[in-house]
Amino acid sequence: MSSNSKKIPNIKCNVCHKKINKEQIIDKDFIEIKQYWGYFTSRDQQFLHCIICEECWDRIEEYIETLGGKVDKYRYDMLSGEILGTEKSEIEKVKKQNAKHKNR
Ligand SMILES: [Zn+2]
Repeated sequence: MSSNSKKIPNIKCNVCHKKINKEQIIDKDFIEIKQYWGYFTSRDQQFLHCIICEECWDRIEEYIETLGGKVDKYRYDMLSGEILGTEKSEIEKVKKQNAKHKNR
């Protein structure tokens, strides 16, 4: 076995059981939830792991909204991982930049 050969893990969506393909793994096109529940919780020292594909996540996000909740979303820089701002503020920034160009 070559040490240079990077093995792509065989992972599936925990909701629809579809295989997460190589491109989806590279593009981070899925959600991974990992949780180590604490000592005095009702899930006492339970480790939870869940993979969710983008399609299933869309449904889960909609479900959260039907419960009155909201998922916080931000734009980030893929290279540095730096958080750039909320989706809303990023959209406003782009609108302002576009307006400046139009006025020239
Ligand atoms: Zn799925």
